[in-house]
Amino acid sequence: MKVVKFGGSSLASGAQLEKVFHIVTADPSRKAVVVSAPGKRHSEDTKVTDLLIACAEQYISSGDAPELCEAVIERYAEIAQELHLDQHIIERIRDDLFTLLNGDKSNPVQYIDAIKASGEDNNAKLIAAYFQHKGIQAEYVNPKDAGLFVTNEPGNAQVLPESYENLYRLRERDGLIIFPGFFGFSKAGDVITFSRSGSDITGSILANGLQADLYENFTDVDAVYSVNPSIVKNPKEISELTYREMRELSYAGFSVFHDEALIPAFRAGIPVQIKNTNNPAAQGTRVVSKRDNTNGPVVGIASDTGFCSIYISKYLMNREIGFGRKALQILEDYSLTYEHVPSGIDDITIILRQDQMDGSMERQLIRRIEEDLQADEVIVEHNLALIMVVGEAMRHNVGTTARASKALSEAQVNIEMINQGSSEVSMMFGVKEAQEERAVQALYQEFFAGVLIS
Ligand code: ASP
Repeated sequence: MKVVKFGGSSLASGAQLEKVFHIVTADPSRKAVVVSAPGKRHSEDTKVTDLLIACAEQYISSGDAPELCEAVIERYAEIAQELHLDQHIIERIRDDLFTLLNGDKSNPVQYIDAIKASGEDNNAKLIAAYFQHKGIQAEYVNPKDAGLFVTNEPGNAQVLPESYENLYRLRERDGLIIFPGFFGFSKAGDVITFSRSGSDITGSILANGLQADLYENFTDVDAVYSVNPSIVKNPKEISELTYREMRELSYAGFSVFHDEALIPAFRAGIPVQIKNTNNPAAQGTRVVSKRDNTNGPVVGIASDTGFCSIYISKYLMNREIGFGRKALQILEDYSLTYEHVPSGIDDITIILRQDQMDGSMERQLIRRIEEDLQADEVIVEHNLALIMVVGEAMRHNVGTTARASKALSEAQVNIEMINQGSSEVSMMFGVKEAQEERAVQALYQEFFAGVLIS
C-alpha cells in the first residue's frame, strides 16, 4: 500500500490534475493521496498559499481584500472549469474562505494560519470531487476527523505521537483517501500549519500512520540531482540515497523534499520515492535506510547562503569549565538558533543564519560575549555560504577531504572554515557567498569528473 503526495506545481491547473488522476488510478495500491494547494503555473505565477497569506494580512489591516479573495477563488474556478466540474464545489470553496476571513481575529497568528491552510483543505475537496466525477470512489478526509494532532506552534507544528495510532484507523476505509497537506489540529481544536512546503511532512506522517510500504512524493523534476542545476549544467541524477544523505542535502538548499519530512518515514522504515508528475516513467530517486555505495564517496553537493559566523577567541579557553555553555546561553537569551560550532583550543566559531539578527542585536550580542566571557576577540563575519559535500561512503574513504580542499584551492576559493569531525555523512565548507558558485563547480568537477560545467 502506498501513500502518494503531489506538490503545488502538480496541482496548478486542470491539465496537471488529469496527470495526477492517471498516476493515482494506474496503481491500485495507491491508497491515500496527500495534496498541496495549487502552486505556480509558470515562473512568474503566485502560489495560492502566498495569495492566501496576503489576503489574510490585508483583512487584518483593512477588513477587506476583494482582489486577493477573487484571485484565490479564480484559481480553483479555472481548474474546476477545465475539468468540467459542477460549480457547486466553487461555491463551497467561496463560502469556506469568507467564513474564515470573517472569523475571529483576536489571535492574528492563528487567524492567518487557518486561512493559509485553507489552500490545501479546499484543494483536497476539489480533487475528491474530481475523482468522484470520474467515477472513482474517493473521499476527502479532514485531518481533525482523522486525528492528526500537532503542537500549538503556528507555522512550525510538530506532530504529536498519538496521531500515528489515530491515522492507522484510516486503513479501514474503502476507496481512495484525499488528504490535505500542510496542517493538523492542536488539542484545543485549532488549525496549525507545518513550516512552508509542509505537505511533504503530512505525506510522511500519513505513510507512517498507515504503515504504508512506500511513500511516493510527486514533484516537477525527474530526480534529485547531485548538485543544483542552476550552478552546474545537466548534473548527474541520484537514483538512490539514504535518509541521512537526503537530510543533509535538503538542509543545505536541495528544495525537492522538505528536510523535516524524512523523520516519520525514517522511523517507520518506509522508503520514499521521489518522482515527476510530468514524466512518471522516469525512475526518480529512492530514499532508503541503507544503500550500496556505487556512486563513489560523494553522492551530492549542496550549498546555501545567508549565514554569518561569530568567532570568539580566548587564551586558554580549553581549560575554562563552562565556556561553551556560557557562549551558547547568550545565544539562547536572544532566541537565536545556531547551525554549527567548529572549535579549536583557544577559539570557537558559531555559525548561524544571519537573518535572525539585525545590526542592533548584533552589537548587543558582541558586547555581552566580550563582557560575560571576557573574550580576547569577537569577530562577526557576514555573507557566508555553506557548502555540504555529502555521502555515506566518505568515512570509509581515505583522502576525500584532501581532494575537496585541493579542488577548492585550485579554483582560488578561500576556505573560511571546515567542519567535518562530527557528521559521518557530510563535510562542510564555509566560503564567502561571492565564491559559492565557483566552489560548488570545482567540487562537482572533482567528484563527478567529466561533466560539463555551465
Ligand atoms: N502550500 C504550502 C506552501 O506553499 C505547503 C506545500 O505546498 O507543501 O508552503
